[in-house]
Amino acid sequence: MRRDWHILSARTLGALALPDACERCFWIRQKIGEPPSPFPSIFSHIDSYSKKVLHAVLAWRQRVPDWFMQFGLNGEPLKPPHFMWFKIPVLGGRLVLRGVPDEILLTPNGTLAIVDYKTARFREADSLRPLYEAQLNVYARIAERFQEPRPDYPFPCDVETLGLIYYDPVTEVDRADKVHAEGFLMEFRACWSPVARRDDWLDELIERAWAILSLPAPPLPNPACKVCEAYRAIASVMGGGS
Ligand code: SF4
Repeated sequence: MRRDWHILSARTLGALALPDACERCFWIRQKIGEPPSPFPSIFSHIDSYSKKVLHAVLAWRQRVPDWFMQFGLNGEPLKPPHFMWFKIPVLGGRLVLRGVPDEILLTPNGTLAIVDYKTARFREADSLRPLYEAQLNVYARIAERFQEPRPDYPFPCDVETLGLIYYDPVTEVDRADKVHAEGFLMEFRACWSPVARRDDWLDELIERAWAILSLPAPPLPNPACKVCEAYRAIASVMGGGS
């Protein structure tokens, strides 16, 4: 059992916002922990590369990349917050929300723009959209309710803009100069998807999370989940019942 289960990450809370969220899985992940992932970490490497691109362009040209300007995003990127301080208590301290956004810009009018990067095909109807919206709303809530001033950050903070920048891979190989002796170049097309503040919705999500986590045992599994069905089938073959 995790001792720190009261600390709820923006991503874990966001998963609960998905239409097919499994409350049992949420309880287990939060109370016991995530199983190790067999998937490669290439996407987090690309997200980190995206941050380096922004900082490299800033260093060379003293301004954010053109696509940021086209999206109406301007400002100075702040040093990424550390999860040890980018957190706030909620529900009277029963839970602590935390998370680390990919980018925070201090805009010319002194407000913050919080941006997450997604390396994925850009679709208006992204099935993970509720998760991303919850994540960004958590970041905004944390930024605006810091307990104490932080170097380089305004205090109090006002978050004016939230959104996602999708780096959509360009997969057509239409120019020979993308291929060279040591490998090949891959391009990403930047797409902007603003996210609205949804404070009441976030409050309801936090309340729901607390209600689930207050249960002494995990809630029933999602009946539509194929993974649980497979586990039950394996258990019955092994003689373990359901
Ligand atoms: S129903 Fe699926 S999602 Fe829920 S606990 Fe079982 S395996 Fe996890």
